[in-house]
Amino acid sequence: MQREFPSFRLRYKRDSRLQRAIGALLRTVTLGGMTTYVSGYHTVMGGTLWVSEGWSQMSDLERYVLLRHERIHLVQANRWGVVPMGVAYLLFPLPLGFAYARARIEWEAYLETLHALVEVRGLEAARSQKDWLRARFVGPDYGWMFPFAARFDRWFDDAIATLAEDVAKGTLTIEETLAAHRSAGG
Ligand SMILES: [Zn+2]
Repeated sequence: MQREFPSFRLRYKRDSRLQRAIGALLRTVTLGGMTTYVSGYHTVMGGTLWVSEGWSQMSDLERYVLLRHERIHLVQANRWGVVPMGVAYLLFPLPLGFAYARARIEWEAYLETLHALVEVRGLEAARSQKDWLRARFVGPDYGWMFPFAARFDRWFDDAIATLAEDVAKGTLTIEETLAAHRSAGG
């Protein structure tokens, strides 16, 4: 990952006044719905992964799954540019209540989360994320970014079905993935 994104670094949110200020802002705009930005969320911003307190307690596999998700955000930032992506993420079409760009950006990254989970824990572990992940999309965690639970369920079920096909074909195993990442240098 360092080789693919040379400026990549990892810092604790608690050590940053800006990150703590963002946490306070989010708590306010979500009327107290989002209170764990600093303590419970990991966020990529401008090439830095800001991690929560939980990072120190995560297992290597959990960190691996998280980094797979956050790596997608770095790929997206390279694809669209940090500023256009940031503006779309925060504002399009609404900052709260229906943030379609944010939902699509997060969905692409969560697809990678599910993919990684299948590799390290198996299909059932990925499938069992459905309720938790739906709550993240329709609830306050990301500012009610996608208030369509049924549509979310379709996205999720399609993703699991695709992953199940890959498992059935035998193309998803952690050994192969780790080997591929090693040879790709990240
Ligand atoms: Zn994300």
